[in-house]
Amino acid sequence: MKATPCPACGADMTVKAQKNGKPWLGCSSCKVITLVHGPDGVKRFKDRTGWTAEGAPVAAPPAGGAPAPKAGEPAPKPAPGPVGHAARKAARRGQ
Ligand SMILES: [Zn+2]
Repeated sequence: MKATPCPACGADMTVKAQKNGKPWLGCSSCKVITLVHGPDGVKRFKDRTGWTAEGAPVAAPPAGGAPAPKAGEPAPKPAPGPVGHAARKAARRGQ
């Protein structure tokens, strides 16, 4: 199924299921891959697109993508922005 256009070229991305049942999207033209991780992210993706793992083609994302977190481990969180911003502000004050 198709859920969203590729962020690089705008072509439709194909949604497949990882072995753990989480969705990932791939662009056949430019090979961009998008992995959906985290319970909230997977739920929102399913709510938005109606995608389910049942009946979806199961395939491992191509090598070279970000490593999938092991089962039971939380997905990596992005670095908190305000801390970095405050740190830069503090550095400027120190000059
Ligand atoms: Zn693309």
